[in-house]
Amino acid sequence: MAGLTAVLCGNPNVGKSTVFNALTGMHQHTGNWAGKTVESAKGTVHDEDGSWTLIDLPGAYSLQHGSPDEMVTADYLLHGEYDVAIVVCDATCLARSMVLALQTSDLCSRTVVCVNLMDEARRQGIGIDLTTLERELGLPVVGISAKEGQGIDRLKKTVRKTAHFPNQKSANEERHTVPLHQKADAIADKCLLVDEGNELKNRNQRMDRWLCSPATGIPIMLALLLVLFYLTLFGANIPSEWLSKWLFRLEDTLSQWFIQWNAPEWLTGAVVHGMYRTLAWVVAVMLPPMAIFFPLFTLLEDLGYLPRIAFNMDRCFRSCHACGKQALCMCMGLGCNAVGVTGCRIIQSPRERMIAILTNAITPCNGRLPFLITLISAFLVTGGGGWGSVLSAVVLVGLLALSVGMTLLLSLGLSKTVLRGMSSAYVLELPPFRAPKTGQVILRSVMDRTIGVLMRAVTVAAPAGLLLWILGYLKIGDTSLLQYIAHGLDPFGRVLGMDGAILLAFLLGLPANEIVLPIVLMIYLSQNQLMEPLQLMTLQTVLKTHGWSAGTALCTALFSMFHWPCGTTILTIYKETRHVGWTLLSILLPTMAGIIVCSLVAALL
Ligand code: GDP
Repeated sequence: MAGLTAVLCGNPNVGKSTVFNALTGMHQHTGNWAGKTVESAKGTVHDEDGSWTLIDLPGAYSLQHGSPDEMVTADYLLHGEYDVAIVVCDATCLARSMVLALQTSDLCSRTVVCVNLMDEARRQGIGIDLTTLERELGLPVVGISAKEGQGIDRLKKTVRKTAHFPNQKSANEERHTVPLHQKADAIADKCLLVDEGNELKNRNQRMDRWLCSPATGIPIMLALLLVLFYLTLFGANIPSEWLSKWLFRLEDTLSQWFIQWNAPEWLTGAVVHGMYRTLAWVVAVMLPPMAIFFPLFTLLEDLGYLPRIAFNMDRCFRSCHACGKQALCMCMGLGCNAVGVTGCRIIQSPRERMIAILTNAITPCNGRLPFLITLISAFLVTGGGGWGSVLSAVVLVGLLALSVGMTLLLSLGLSKTVLRGMSSAYVLELPPFRAPKTGQVILRSVMDRTIGVLMRAVTVAAPAGLLLWILGYLKIGDTSLLQYIAHGLDPFGRVLGMDGAILLAFLLGLPANEIVLPIVLMIYLSQNQLMEPLQLMTLQTVLKTHGWSAGTALCTALFSMFHWPCGTTILTIYKETRHVGWTLLSILLPTMAGIIVCSLVAALL
């Protein structure tokens, strides 16, 4: 059949993205926690009879009411154009999945039930009688283990068959006379065979006793962060140095080529010293820490640790009248604030969601983390021998704790003023711990996150480098336009413990935070024409000759954490809130926080 379209729906964290990837061969982001998929995705499935379209809908527990992502799913199932609905169910938690399966089959006569995680159910001592389930539901049922690719071909065939022959609707006569949740429980009861004393289940409970207890939960969380940052810092040093040497050697070669071609001086300047140098900077500084941090972070995500962070932080957020799930959005913000803002859709209460959106930019994203790392290594923790990386990791965890503290403070401020109200009740699902597929995690985090983010930075860095070069090239008298503006901003910069050049770099870095440090250097370097600023010692020298002290580095680090969101995040906030006022507040809030914190620190130093 040509033009067949199927939709994929299911409760959060049932392996929907894994099923989508297994069917389409695509690489949708997967992770072991509820609420990760809040946007729809589209792909093509190839089978023996040709190909068909598959649309992945956001995770939903029910179609009746709920969070914005659930409404997207309900709306699509009601009004969207599709032929077959595939409901992905969790074999380890069948009763809960049945509610959505029953509701979907009421809306769509061509519904296929796909029971995923069969392998995990087996390990947990859970058996499922799929034939009874099929009879009880009156729908075709396919048992699969998407992670292992088992049952995928059978699922494809069943979708084809169902598209031709719709289900006998209401094969189950009592469906409309019994409340749905009761019906779901009754069906699951008939099909389940459970071993209560299962070792795996007991092990999960034992781990949670440590990871989520009030006494040990937060210390373990901090220790894990410390190890994560230590490995990032320690591991990034050598490749960073190697990359910078290699890239700058290439800059010399490029310059020589331009000279050989008799290219005018301005062209060499614009292309080599403007665009290429900024690009080289971004790649050398950002790539190594990202290539280490993201795979490690993704391993924790796949293991199922992120919801435990939200659980541990819940009490803090509640005391600020916000929602513990905000911690999950902050974790996403560590990768990219725009993603964190979109992720706020997992929060059901509109008031709490708005608080999470307005404060997400306070979490330093990966565009800022390498910048913070550079500042720490160059100024805040110098020396220390073998302990240097450990100390740097401690400082970085401290900065992150500060950003959490500021997020809580601003959340409290908002919930006492423009977003008044108390915390709502909600369910936070703690998924079972799952062994991550290390190879896949590394591949996925490098492809999706590292390369993706790097490409974004690079596309911004090259034109920004050109613009900067032009601003540096154009002169008023003896002073370049860049220095002229920096000079004008200097008094304000000094109040904040920085200078005009740094402030201008933050302003020009609006498209992407990754380019702030290269801009600072370009403003400085247009004076003394230093060529290779990348090695830490050289960087330190350049900054010191321009009046930097540890205090300047600290204020710059603080302002990097607390200032306006980047351009992409601002656009995303507008897209999510559809309100100019809230978008403006999301810019003002962190900026005001930065101005207050930096001027206080500058006054004290
Ligand atoms: P989604 O939130 O429903 O899109 O779920 P994901 O596709 O992100 O998967 C959630 C977690 O379950 C991830 O850690 C997956 O690796 C894991 N997972 C998905 N399918 C299976 C499966 O068939 N077996 C096992 N053991 N794990 C799975």
